Amino acid sequence: MGGHPPAVHRLLAALEDAVSRLGRETVKGVIRDHLAQLRAVGAPFPEASEIIAQLQAKLAAMARPSYPPVINATGVLIHTNLGRSPRLPVEAPGYLALEFDFESGERGERLAPVREKLCRYFGTEDALVVTNNAAALLLLLAAHARGREVIVSRGELIEIGGSFRLPEIMEEAGARLVEVGCTNRTHLADYRKALSPETAAILQVHRSNFAMTGFVATPDTASLAQLAHEAGVGFWVDQGSGCHVDLRPYGLKDEPTVQELLAAGADVVLFSGDKLLGGPQAGILVGRKQALAPLRQHPLRRALRPDKSALVALAATLDCYLSGDIQRVPLYRLLAQAEAQLKKRAQRLARQLQAAGVPASTVPTQAVLGGGTTPGQGLASWAVALPEAPAVARALRLGEPPVVCRQEQGKLLLDLKAVFPEQDGTLAVAVRRAWAYEST
Ligand SMILES: *Cc1c(COP(=O)(O)O)cnc(C)c1O
Repeated sequence: MGGHPPAVHRLLAALEDAVSRLGRETVKGVIRDHLAQLRAVGAPFPEASEIIAQLQAKLAAMARPSYPPVINATGVLIHTNLGRSPRLPVEAPGYLALEFDFESGERGERLAPVREKLCRYFGTEDALVVTNNAAALLLLLAAHARGREVIVSRGELIEIGGSFRLPEIMEEAGARLVEVGCTNRTHLADYRKALSPETAAILQVHRSNFAMTGFVATPDTASLAQLAHEAGVGFWVDQGSGCHVDLRPYGLKDEPTVQELLAAGADVVLFSGDKLLGGPQAGILVGRKQALAPLRQHPLRRALRPDKSALVALAATLDCYLSGDIQRVPLYRLLAQAEAQLKKRAQRLARQLQAAGVPASTVPTQAVLGGGTTPGQGLASWAVALPEAPAVARALRLGEPPVVCRQEQGKLLLDLKAVFPEQDGTLAVAVRRAWAYEST
């Protein structure tokens, strides 16, 4: 029995690698905590070499990157837990001309470049960018509807994962919610009856993360816009998804695009930057100058302004669309992967794995866009299937790089729809390693 633990300075000397990565004080703290835990157990102290190995394992976990890149084998393209849309690799080390006018050398307007691109791409008079879509709605309501009424259909009073609840945002903004219609059916006449001198706007909200079918009715956007404008109130659409291209070529149903909603008469359309726009987290508002001007003056705007890296990424994403090369945006490169290609990749991967002794097979699957964009709709895809083994799924998550997969029908599925083709080799190695690790 080792009655005494090894001296801290001896352990520190054996952990020089960790010290250089994490700092001496952090490693000292981990050593002290670990020794205290061993003491608390009351059993004899292990050998110094064993204690060092235990500490090395702990410190290795701490030295992992905080937000490591992940291989997304879940089949969910816009994955809430994996940063929604995959982002363009835009590096911006050091200083950048965020608020700088090159001509005069004076302070410039931070949003000017993305505003110009948004107006050009969506064909609108004006555009504004804030931190996210929830913030966009908050600012819109606070600027126009504080102490006034906003009419919303009962079929659109949504909650979105991560505690975005429409009625609560309205309350925070000081707007009074006027609910109209029924859960399944709301008619134009319901909106008309609810109009009053207190009305600031009619708000249409995309249902985003659920679908309603059966005996349902909603007035079309153009009639709602017309009703609002005849009454002299605003008409806003919280579209959420940022759908801006026809999704039918990708095998999805027709979704209203931002451009169509503007053409139908919306004064403002708001949406997220990291859903179907395929860019960074951002809340984007496009629409009429007159409707957006009060937001620009509002004190909340400063509190909600986007970070420079988001603006750089957003500008780069918009450049891809403006150049007509949608495939340069990672999300659309994934979406464009045809079922036949995915099947070929799955078969190749499965063969490689089988050759290494992993019992892999292939199965057709339904991938999804996710992120509350096209609820209830699947995308034809293929996966490599392994016998279900929670320990293997865990080993994959903890591997380097981490791989996140999904479990379905008693199998572990590596769905290829959200995996970039150039990641296939790395994925094969990761699966082989996780399988070998768990079966020895
Ligand atoms: C996703 C979504 C939001 C919230 O957007 P964030 O960017 O997460 O703040 C709001 N409204 C709708 C309709 C959405 O789909």
